[in-house]
Amino acid sequence: MIHCRVRLARIGACLIAGAVVTWGVAWCCAMPRRQSRTAVAAAASDACIMEVGGRFVRVMTLREGVGATTYTLMHSAGFSEDYATARAHGEQSRAAEWLKGAGALVPIPRALRGLVDFGPERWDYNVQTAGWPVECLRQGRVSVRTPSGPQTIDVYTMEITWRGRTYRLPREPLLPGFALNTAFYAIAALGVVEALAFARRRTRAHRGRCEACGYDRGGIAAAAACPECGAAQ
Ligand SMILES: [Zn+2]
Repeated sequence: MIHCRVRLARIGACLIAGAVVTWGVAWCCAMPRRQSRTAVAAAASDACIMEVGGRFVRVMTLREGVGATTYTLMHSAGFSEDYATARAHGEQSRAAEWLKGAGALVPIPRALRGLVDFGPERWDYNVQTAGWPVECLRQGRVSVRTPSGPQTIDVYTMEITWRGRTYRLPREPLLPGFALNTAFYAIAALGVVEALAFARRRTRAHRGRCEACGYDRGGIAAAAACPECGAAQ
């Protein structure tokens, strides 16, 4: 019973540690990003055209290193309508031209689809996801071109100043990825904890002590329970 409780406590502690490590690793993946993300993403080679809510947006994908990806969704009413019209009229060549201009088709994470706001006529929306082994946190920046000039709005973002530098870091967990990474790190931590506990039990047994509490079993019958903690040997 005591042993069972100890094991449950270990699993709980490893899960909490796993979640903390998941968050920390995702932030480490997000940190080296450059500030001008629109310009960076515009140079991306992966791109596609995606239909969201009956409109078309151009999506560019940029892998920025280990565990970090930027998706730039670009919408302008003119483009969306032209592309929709070309498709509706069966103008395969024009629709194909749009696709060729955008590059190869890439799969878009489902998480992006609910994020698009179709208010203004023209906007860019950068979504960054970060995390390893699976991307598990996201943040976003909406850039809108208004008559009075460009405006940017940060969403799902936390600003942290460290050593005189300010980092914009993701703060919105993506659930499947977050759960997977937490399990990944928790299992790794549990493996280390169990291995250490096993090594300690073996060392105690080797020195003639109780495996559970370390009490010196000198002069006690081998089959007898430990007089200190009651553990069977
Ligand atoms: Zn004992």
